[in-house]
Amino acid sequence: MSKRGSKFKYINEGNVHIVLQILNTNKVIRLVKEDNQKIQLSTITNSIQYVNKIMVPLIFGDDHYHQEVTVLSENEIFEISTDIEKWRPNHRKAKSKLSSYAITVPNLTISSIKGDNYCLEIKPKEGFIDAPLRKCCKCHYCLKQYLKLNNGEITNTSEYCPLDLFSGVYIRMKYALHNLLQNPQNNLKLFQNGIIVFSDNLKTQPDFINDIFGSLNVFLNFIITVLLCRKSNTRLIGSDEINDYKRGFNCNETNELDDISFLYKLLSVQKLANGLVLDLENNNDHVTEVLNTLEEYKLDLSQQCDREKFVEVSNARDLALISAVAKDCSIMLSFTLEHESDLPHIVVNGRHIHFRLSVTDLEPKTIKTLQNRQNSEEKFIKAFEQYKNSIKS
Ligand SMILES: [Zn+2]
Repeated sequence: MSKRGSKFKYINEGNVHIVLQILNTNKVIRLVKEDNQKIQLSTITNSIQYVNKIMVPLIFGDDHYHQEVTVLSENEIFEISTDIEKWRPNHRKAKSKLSSYAITVPNLTISSIKGDNYCLEIKPKEGFIDAPLRKCCKCHYCLKQYLKLNNGEITNTSEYCPLDLFSGVYIRMKYALHNLLQNPQNNLKLFQNGIIVFSDNLKTQPDFINDIFGSLNVFLNFIITVLLCRKSNTRLIGSDEINDYKRGFNCNETNELDDISFLYKLLSVQKLANGLVLDLENNNDHVTEVLNTLEEYKLDLSQQCDREKFVEVSNARDLALISAVAKDCSIMLSFTLEHESDLPHIVVNGRHIHFRLSVTDLEPKTIKTLQNRQNSEEKFIKAFEQYKNSIKS
């Protein structure tokens, strides 16, 4: 299929977007599904600005990742819709009308267009114990496991705890990753050349782990090194296997993260509204409100002092909605054996592995997210108390 000479490949779709790879580039195009109501250009551009000017600089301290609007003609939409029809799952076809506004974004699973690409996607969830959950000594992710257990959705609670991943403590991080691989739910995926090769439905270890790293343990060392490193080239750290390491019953909030590490920055954004009192009746348009704040105070969030000012002048609800995005985003670690001079590398088994660390799913959330969160917290705590009573009796 083609659009102005580009070739596309259908990747997947959700309720709102259809994602196509633009072949021979490191970009994807997200087509936006439309209900009866036409989507306004301003809605799309505001969402893009939100990702580019708020979320990316808050998490990374720079604005290296950019989304753009692409305007499609009636003809192009018709041509693309016809071409992708055969790839689309039937249950998604109920919603087929496409907006003429699409979003072009970097393909975060690809770090080199010259050769083979690999990518790890982790949805880490929140790496601290939120104020209302403190009395349980459990984090949001771990508490949710008890509700899933109660509802019969799982037979055992996951041993993964986000606080271990965000701990900066080598053995705890490895334990977290190991447990995600054992029980990925929707929190971990592996891609090879843009295609999912490992997920909750596909639990066979892909060959590239042994081919490139020699063992799963070295692969985990590589991931931990990237998550803890600066952007420059670095040495592979750690060698221990987790062996009989076992985490305690309570979630452990101590961490040793270096304040220049990516995980520290992501955790800081997740904590932006921790303990603040929220006005859940505030129905003003959140996206317009925060973009106006940038405009009014002439803030550039790639600058540390401007980020501090932004937090100081923003209201609790806006900070909570920004932190909600950071709590639900996905980390994308793509890597390749091809030489890419603009990417940092780590030497593994004598070979340079070039990598790129990015974050996706940064689109704005609505006040409903915060309202749902409050309701779900109450359910989680209740399920946890029932569980504790059941093991006592
Ligand atoms: Zn936990």
